[in-house]
Amino acid sequence: MMAAMQTQYRGELRMNESLSDYTTWRVGGVAKHLYRPADLEDLQTFLAEVAADEPLLWIGLGSNLLIRDGGFNGTVIAMYGVNADIQVEGLDVTVGAGAACAKVARQCAREGLSGGAFFAGIPGTMGGALAMNAGAFGGETWNVISQACMISRSGKLVWRDSDEFDVSYRSVKRLEDEWFVAARLNLQQGDIAKEQQAIRELLDKRAATQPTGKPSGGSTFRNPEGDYAARLIEQCGLKGYRIGGASVSEKHANFIINEDDCTAADIEQLIVFIGNEVERQTSIRLQPEVHIVGDVL
Ligand SMILES: Cc1cc2nc3c(=O)[nH]c(=O)nc-3n(C[C@H](O)[C@H](O)[C@H](O)COP(=O)(O)OP(=O)(O)OC[C@H]3O[C@@H](n4cnc5c(N)ncnc54)[C@H](O)[C@@H]3O)c2cc1C
Repeated sequence: MMAAMQTQYRGELRMNESLSDYTTWRVGGVAKHLYRPADLEDLQTFLAEVAADEPLLWIGLGSNLLIRDGGFNGTVIAMYGVNADIQVEGLDVTVGAGAACAKVARQCAREGLSGGAFFAGIPGTMGGALAMNAGAFGGETWNVISQACMISRSGKLVWRDSDEFDVSYRSVKRLEDEWFVAARLNLQQGDIAKEQQAIRELLDKRAATQPTGKPSGGSTFRNPEGDYAARLIEQCGLKGYRIGGASVSEKHANFIINEDDCTAADIEQLIVFIGNEVERQTSIRLQPEVHIVGDVL
């Protein structure tokens, strides 16, 4: 994989690493290589040494990823906790891609900044939120981003203004060989107590409406224009429907739960089944929100 194996990198390189430990669904085969960089500089060094044709998969907290049972025949870059600093300067907050969104929300609230509370509802990293344009309870990632720092395949860094990205609902187009390493948020002046209260309310609402205690990938499908995927799936009588160990949540029909030690294949088959059944009954074709990657077993 590397141009020179007597390398300069300081992070942790693992071989044949099981990816089920890296996704919230707790499924997935092994990665040929998995690299956890020591810091941003180390990531730059590592990337400069990776062969140009090595397939790369970036992973944050794996809360929007279905990795197939055959795993990933390339190098996974595990970013959670790497370059994870949060720095506040006035209304500007610079956040590393490896920071957990929940931590970003809490820190913004502590600083009395308004506009970042919604991040508390997203169980991923800032990098994943940037890649997905994650949103919750009326807030959306790219509404508060002014700039994003990208790293290229060769390890070069470049800051890009938000208008250089084509952003839409749960989707962001970026150059294929660039990934997020940090972002600058621009927030408004707010009130500490109000922001902390907003976070508490949001988490209560989430606990009341989502099966938060069970392994899942969050919302499986995007909401179609003017409707809700969960409403359509429920209307089609699919709550509780099961394939192998994967089932449609009784609490939130757009969540698929790893109920009983399921495989990625069980989940993928259930996704296909739900998509077909909803289309058969309603003529609406749901599009998956979760990213499905890797090889079938
Ligand atoms: C219980 C639960 C509730 C959820 N609720 C919500 C919600 O309310 N709103 C919402 O929007 N989402 C929700 N999600 C989905 C998920 O949390 C978000 O999509 C989140 O932004 C994913 O972040 P992550 O770090 O886990 O990304 P991952 O799942 O690790 O990766 C997601 C995608 O982003 C890519 N990626 C990751 N890091 C980078 C990077 N640094 N640079 C470039 N690409 C990268 C990955 O390759 C992958 O394609 C929920 C998930 C769960 C399990």
